[in-house]
Amino acid sequence: MLYTTQMDAAKKGIFTKQMEDVIRDEQISKEELMEKIATGKIVIPANKNHKNLRGIAVGEGTKTKVNVNLGVSEDKCDPNAELEKAQTAVKYKADAIMDLSTFGDTAKHRRRLVEEIPVMIGTVPMYDAVAKYGKNIKDMTEEDLFRVVEEHAKDGIDFLTIHAGFNRVAAERVDNNPRLTHIVSRGGSILYEWMKLNDKENPFYEHYDRLLDICEKYDVTLSLGDGLRPGSIKDSTDAPQIQELIILGELTKRAWKRNVQVMIEGPGHVPLNEIVTNMQIQKKLCHGAPFYILGPIVTDVAPGYDHITSAIGGTLAAANGADFLCYVTPAEHLRLPDLADMKEGLMASRIAAHAADIAKGVKGAIEWDHKMSEARGNLDWKTMFDLAIDPEKAREYRASSMPIDGEVCTMCGDLCPIKRTKKDA
Ligand code: SF4
Repeated sequence: MLYTTQMDAAKKGIFTKQMEDVIRDEQISKEELMEKIATGKIVIPANKNHKNLRGIAVGEGTKTKVNVNLGVSEDKCDPNAELEKAQTAVKYKADAIMDLSTFGDTAKHRRRLVEEIPVMIGTVPMYDAVAKYGKNIKDMTEEDLFRVVEEHAKDGIDFLTIHAGFNRVAAERVDNNPRLTHIVSRGGSILYEWMKLNDKENPFYEHYDRLLDICEKYDVTLSLGDGLRPGSIKDSTDAPQIQELIILGELTKRAWKRNVQVMIEGPGHVPLNEIVTNMQIQKKLCHGAPFYILGPIVTDVAPGYDHITSAIGGTLAAANGADFLCYVTPAEHLRLPDLADMKEGLMASRIAAHAADIAKGVKGAIEWDHKMSEARGNLDWKTMFDLAIDPEKAREYRASSMPIDGEVCTMCGDLCPIKRTKKDA
């Protein structure tokens, strides 16, 4: 074997097939890409057992990526519907799919996803441990947890969310600093309960090297989870959140020593005025590792519209350093998203990601807008549809209200200023 992980390959100067994929999709040089992978600023989550994967980069200087969460639960268990959602998400250009299934034959569903989905796939093994063993949380053993991690890695999952930084020190911090919404991360709450009931340290923290062994073997990217992410804007940037982030920064360095690629997961609910600070603190404490964020949701009062509250936060966050946005749908806080919710959430996040890419000067981002503006200025409807982030929706809207003069639209009709002032009019 010439190399173990993408990071190991980059350090050794080996240009992998996945790096080649990235060069085709991004305006980044081979040298810059390899240097940033070698120093942990870019990751290419690419499990050796995910055979049909197209390499996708997450991190500094590359386009902001978007993840779609899917998965069955006890209340809604239809693996075929979830697979259809995953395929639709890929059609609408999601960069990643996270399978968060917590019920039924999760292994079968996960393996089908790996076989059929060509973008990076992530999971949270802790959720699956609950589904797989059906035990009380207290009775789950360390072996149970590591067995499920190894199973996901072997199945070809590209990145694993592991809340390794939520150790007993962080748990004490949350006990001593009461919050409005306590712990809102599912993985975090399970680990908190486990540590309390068993009076033991988080196994993923205590046996972190064992976790790294698995990640190195399959080239799984560690997505270090934020079990203490704030679940309300009041809890944002508080001591427990920052305590966990400090530990994640330490764990990042240990992973890099083993050539394991790392992303850091982040908040959560954060008011707009604290977002920039959050991005700066993360990049500083975690040594420039890619930042993967959920939201941030900038106000707590908009259930049904949280794809918008998170797109507002996601835009500002990504413009200031976040690299990867986990989508939020209108169903957030309310129910498992359906197909339509998934599309709304994905589009909102893709818009946020692109708007941020323009602001942070990602190469090639703004040119897309310039082409669209040129087409708009020429009333070139075909090109406008082709360039639209959601061509289907743009076509449907226009077709639903056609003007008398086909060159303009029904908004201004005969008074269309673009037509009236066109240079060649
Ligand atoms: S009619 Fe108005 S809205 Fe429609 S293309 Fe012309 S300027 Fe734009």
